[in-house]
Amino acid sequence: MKAASPPPPKHAGQVFTLVALVLATAFGLAWTRLPAPLPEDAPKDAFSAMRARAHLEVVARRPHPIGSVEHAAVRAYLVEQLRALGLEPEVQEATVARTRYREPRLAVVKNVVARRAGTARDTAKGAGKALLLMAHYDSRAMTPGASDDGYGVVAMLEVARALAGEALASDVLFLFTDGEEEGLLGAQAFATQHRWAGEVGVILNVEARGNAGPVMMFQTGDDNGALVRELATAAPRVVGSSLSQAIYRRMPNDTDLSIFLPATPSLNFANVDGLEQYHSPTDTVANADLGTLQEGGANLLGVARALASRPLPLPAEPDATYFNVGTLFARYPCAWDLPLAGAAAALLGVFVGVARRKGELRLPFAALGALASLLVVAAAALAGLCAWTLASRLHGDYALVNAARPLLKGLWFATFVALGAGLALAAQASLRGRLRVAELFAGSMTNVVVIALALASRMPGASFVFTWPVLAALPFAIALVATGSFDRDDARGVAAAAAMAAVPLVIIAPFVPQIFITFGPPIGLVIAAMAANLAMVCAPAVRHLLEPSPRLAPRVALLGAAASLVAANAVGPFDGAHPRPESVLYAVDGDSDRSFWLTPDAAPPAWASLAFVDQTRGAAPLPFPPQHVLAVPAPATVEPRPVIAWIDRDQVRVTPPAGAGLLAVRVEGASHLRVDGIPLPAVLGAVSFRFFAPPAEGVLIDLGARAAGPVVIRVASQRAGLPAGLSAGTRPEGSMPKPGGWDTLLESDTTLVAVSSTR
Ligand SMILES: [Zn+2]
Repeated sequence: MKAASPPPPKHAGQVFTLVALVLATAFGLAWTRLPAPLPEDAPKDAFSAMRARAHLEVVARRPHPIGSVEHAAVRAYLVEQLRALGLEPEVQEATVARTRYREPRLAVVKNVVARRAGTARDTAKGAGKALLLMAHYDSRAMTPGASDDGYGVVAMLEVARALAGEALASDVLFLFTDGEEEGLLGAQAFATQHRWAGEVGVILNVEARGNAGPVMMFQTGDDNGALVRELATAAPRVVGSSLSQAIYRRMPNDTDLSIFLPATPSLNFANVDGLEQYHSPTDTVANADLGTLQEGGANLLGVARALASRPLPLPAEPDATYFNVGTLFARYPCAWDLPLAGAAAALLGVFVGVARRKGELRLPFAALGALASLLVVAAAALAGLCAWTLASRLHGDYALVNAARPLLKGLWFATFVALGAGLALAAQASLRGRLRVAELFAGSMTNVVVIALALASRMPGASFVFTWPVLAALPFAIALVATGSFDRDDARGVAAAAAMAAVPLVIIAPFVPQIFITFGPPIGLVIAAMAANLAMVCAPAVRHLLEPSPRLAPRVALLGAAASLVAANAVGPFDGAHPRPESVLYAVDGDSDRSFWLTPDAAPPAWASLAFVDQTRGAAPLPFPPQHVLAVPAPATVEPRPVIAWIDRDQVRVTPPAGAGLLAVRVEGASHLRVDGIPLPAVLGAVSFRFFAPPAEGVLIDLGARAAGPVVIRVASQRAGLPAGLSAGTRPEGSMPKPGGWDTLLESDTTLVAVSSTR
C-alpha cells in the first residue's frame, strides 16, 4: 500500500498568494492615509485643523491675487491675527524683479513678516540663526486658493498660536510671502532686501498643488542629513522620499523655496492630490480636505518646535536616503546607496551560483528571462502610450484632463495598471514550461540590479526603489534553492514566494498612484510599465497565482483593463462639481478704438458662440506677438486706458488705469532699459516685461543712452472682470473660468486695454 500524503487543496496556494499580495500592497499604501482633523477644543499645544479652518474661512473667502482689494484684506487679517498672538508683524513693501524669465516679472510686493524671540536670543549678534516658516498669501486670479496656499498660511497661524506660550531657544520668523504665483517675487524681495534675510538658518516652506492627499516633504537643501533626522523624529506622520528630492533637483518646478536653494538648509512640504482643484475656482473652503490640513499642520508644528528648541543652524551632515515603508520611515546616509546596491548584486550572484549548481537555472535561459522582462515592460509602456494617444485623438477634452473629475482619472489609472499587470501575467503564463521560474526571476532581478547600480552612482537618493526589493527577496530565494527546490508547491514554497513579493509591493507600489496623481493620465505609459515590472519582479508569487488555472489571472486582468478603458471613454470629464475650464476675455485696442472678444482656448466656448460667430480672426491688440489667440470684433465700451507719457527723449512714464492689476509692456528699438531703477536686458531688439500690482503713479522707464532709431512702446493693462453690461453669453453651471497658466495676461474674465506710442 502506498503511503500518499493528501494533496494540498487545489486553490489554497492561489488564494494565499492573492491575499498576501493584497495585504502587502495595503500596508505599503498606509502612509497615504490621512489623520482625522483635530477639533476646535483640542489641547492648546496641539495643531487643530478645525481651528485653522476658521482662519481659512477668511483667507480663502474670495480670490486674492496680488494687488487686489481682497489681497489687502487678507494681509490686514494676517497682521491682526499675529498682533493678537503678541507678535509685532510688519509689512515689507518692496519693488522687486525676477529677470530669469523670458519676460522679466516685476511687482510691488507686500510681505507680512513677524518675529518670535527665542530664549537664547542673540541672533542679532550673529551667534545663532533663526528658523523661518514660509507660505504665500497671494492666490491666482480665479481661485479662492483654499489649498494654494491657504493651507500653508493658516497652518502657520495655528503653529504661531500653539508655540505662543512656549519658551524656545531660537528665534522663529514667520514670512507670509506675496507674489509667489507671479514668479516668487515676495520671496525674492525678502531674500534680497529684508534686513533679517541673513539671519535665516533653516526654512520650512508649505505649498500645495491640489487640495487633497498626504503632505510630502519633497525637497530639501544640500547636506540634509541632520534635518531629515529631525523630521523623522519630530513629525507625527512623516511622508517623503529622497526619490522626489533626486527628481526635483533636476526639474525646473518652482516654489518660494527655489530662491533659497540649495544653500539654505530647508524642508519643502506639499500635497499633490486633488489636482483638478489646483488654481481653480473650486479650490474653496467647502472642498478643503481637512485631513491634509491636519497632517501638514501637525508636521509643521512638530518640526518647528523641535528645530526652534535648539541652536540653529544644525551642523551640516551629508545627504540622507529616506522613504516610507508602510507606517515606518527608513533613513540612512546616502553614502550607503552604492554599497547596498553592490550587496544586492552580490546576493543575486550567490542565488545564480547556487541555483545553477542545483540544476534549477541555466545561464542562457536566465539571460532570456532578463530579455523577456525587458520586452514585457516595454510592451506595457507601448500599450499604455497607444491607449492614451488614441483616446486623446478621440476626445478633444483630454487636453484639459488635469481639470477632469477623479472618476475619469481613476478609470484611466485602473486601465494602465490592469494593462501592465495583465500583459506581464499573460507573458508568464505563456512562458511556463519554457523558462523555469528561477530563470525568469533571476532575469528580472538582474534588470533591477543594473538600474539600482546605475542610480546609486548617478542619482543619489533614488536607488533604494530598486535596491531593497532585491535585498529583501534574495535571502528567501537563496534559502529556497539551498534547501530544496526553488519551484515548489508546498506551504514553504508558497510562503517564501509571497515574502519575496512583499517588499517590492510595500516600497514600490505606493509610488505608482503617487506618480499618476502628480502627472495625470499622460504618464500612463510609465504606470503600465511599473505595473508590468512589479509583476515580473514578483514572478515566484505570480507562478502560484497562475496555478491551477494559468489563463484565469491574465484574462481577469486584461478583461479588467478593457472594461475600465471602455468605461473611461464613456465617462464625461466634467460635471457640476468639476466644471469645464473655458476662457473669454474682452480687449480694447486704444490706438484704433476697436474692441474684441478673445479666447486662448482651442475653440470658443459653446455658450459664447454668438459672440464668436464672426470668426474672421482679428489681430489681438496685445503688446507681444499673439499666440493662438482667437480675436473677433466686439461691441465698443468706454474703458479707462493706460497712459504713456514721455518725460523727455529717454524717459517715459507708464501709468495704469484705475483697477489694473497688471501692466504688460513691450519696448521695441531699445537695447536695454531700467524700470523703476531695475535694469532689464533686451531680447532680439525688444524688452518685454510684466509689472504686477503697478503703483497708481505709474512706472518709470529709463531708456538710457538710446540709439538713433525710433522707440515703440506698447502697453496692455489688465483688470479683473468684463465690462459692465456686456457679456459674450451666459456661462452655464458646468463651466468655469480657466485656471491660469503661466501667461497671466490671458487670464479668463479679464479686460485688456492696449495703447502704443512711438518716439
Ligand atoms: Zn502656491
